[in-house]
Amino acid sequence: MIEEPANLSVWRKPEAISGDFGSVAAQATVDLVVVGAGIQGLSAALHAARRGLSVQVIEAASLGEGASGLNGGQVIPGLKFDPEALVAMLGRERGARLTEFSAGTADALFDLISDEKLDVPHCRTGWIQAAHTETAMAAVAQRNRQWRAHGADVTLLNDAEVALLTGAKGYRGGWLDRRAGTIDPLAFVFELARLAVDQGVGIVCNQRATSLRRDDGGWRITMAGDREVRATKVLVATNAYSDALVPGLAQSLVWLHSFQIATAPLPASLDDIILPHGQAVSDSRRILVYFRKSPDNRLVLGGRGPMRAPAGPQDWQHLERALTRLYQVLEGHPIERRWFGRVAMTVDSLPHLHEPEPGLLMVAGCQGRGVGLMAALGAPLADYIASGDPSLLPLPVSPIRPIPLHRFRRVGVAARIAWSRMLDGMER
Ligand SMILES: Cc1cc2nc3c(=O)[nH]c(=O)nc-3n(C[C@H](O)[C@H](O)[C@H](O)COP(=O)(O)OP(=O)(O)OC[C@H]3O[C@@H](n4cnc5c(N)ncnc54)[C@H](O)[C@@H]3O)c2cc1C
Repeated sequence: MIEEPANLSVWRKPEAISGDFGSVAAQATVDLVVVGAGIQGLSAALHAARRGLSVQVIEAASLGEGASGLNGGQVIPGLKFDPEALVAMLGRERGARLTEFSAGTADALFDLISDEKLDVPHCRTGWIQAAHTETAMAAVAQRNRQWRAHGADVTLLNDAEVALLTGAKGYRGGWLDRRAGTIDPLAFVFELARLAVDQGVGIVCNQRATSLRRDDGGWRITMAGDREVRATKVLVATNAYSDALVPGLAQSLVWLHSFQIATAPLPASLDDIILPHGQAVSDSRRILVYFRKSPDNRLVLGGRGPMRAPAGPQDWQHLERALTRLYQVLEGHPIERRWFGRVAMTVDSLPHLHEPEPGLLMVAGCQGRGVGLMAALGAPLADYIASGDPSLLPLPVSPIRPIPLHRFRRVGVAARIAWSRMLDGMER
């Protein structure tokens, strides 16, 4: 599924887990089939099995080859929109519910790690959103005020404080959200899979689901090689990697590439200078960069990449320039890893939950903020699947709306990126 060249990240799967979970029994019938073994699919499968459902997960690639195993591992609560904007968009009750749910997404993920003693390297010292202009600083101050009003452990930072906490140059200030943290995302995916299997979930990898058909009140799911599974309900957890399995789903999303680089391990002399307390950072640009340290002490930095598959290391050069702009001390420090994955965006910048037919469910469009969100969404999705009670869902159910002229999305995105870069450059 992942395009060439080799997509080698710094993340590691726990040694003890092979990732080979077996195959689907011929003519199996289960309560729930989950298509896609990322954080969304595995978390929902785990929680559904905990509620007593029989569950089969079908994954087209190897475990961790979707966004869940390739991302930046920044676990940030909240959505792209702040509480007041969510209420304005969705109304008082829905907006408040989604705010409350999104406020707890990092808690849900870190609680799972600690409750289940998962072998996932992690650090929970917060996330800094660093403001690159005075205009961005004013927006960050608003964000800080709104989350403080909700009792979140957040603090506004001045320029000197951001410089001290990050070691990075050029920021006017920012805010620190102490609810957030970092994980090794690949380890998290493998540990989620192990937990799910321990709970009785079947997981099969390297098997693409190729068709979904209504059958006798349930669903018949066909895989490559004409293997079939029957299920009462189906969760399609394919997100940015959605194919033609559900008509219109892929066309309702715009996926972008997010690219990342990792340096060679940093020397001990920089321990107290670069991210001494291990926070995650994103900046306030429309075309943003995000960075953190990895468990093996590399600086990992990511940002937008070309819409096409990379042709070679030159496609990551803009990130190398961003790295040395922020950290002159890293000029000449080797870059040892380069990788990329897909991020799904929606037109309204909110994650979408669809149920185009009864018993066929899907969630897509995390806008690059799906790690905590998808981990947390597993429980309410499973509650809904088990009970049929829609009031348990934190997101509104909406119809799949293909984006007009979707096939020209690359042109549209390129124009939008150029426009955003110009606005970033002009903002004071
Ligand atoms: C480079 C990068 C950096 C990111 N950084 C962050 C970050 O720091 N913090 C954050 O919160 N979010 C981040 N994100 C976003 C985050 O990774 C995603 O929102 C999240 O992982 C989505 O999880 P998922 O389970 O819904 O989808 P995925 O993990 O993408 O899983 C979908 C799976 O479906 C499978 N699939 C597709 N079609 C089929 C089919 N027909 N049959 C079977 N299987 C199928 C795919 O193979 C894939 O494994 C980043 C994303 C990328 C790419």
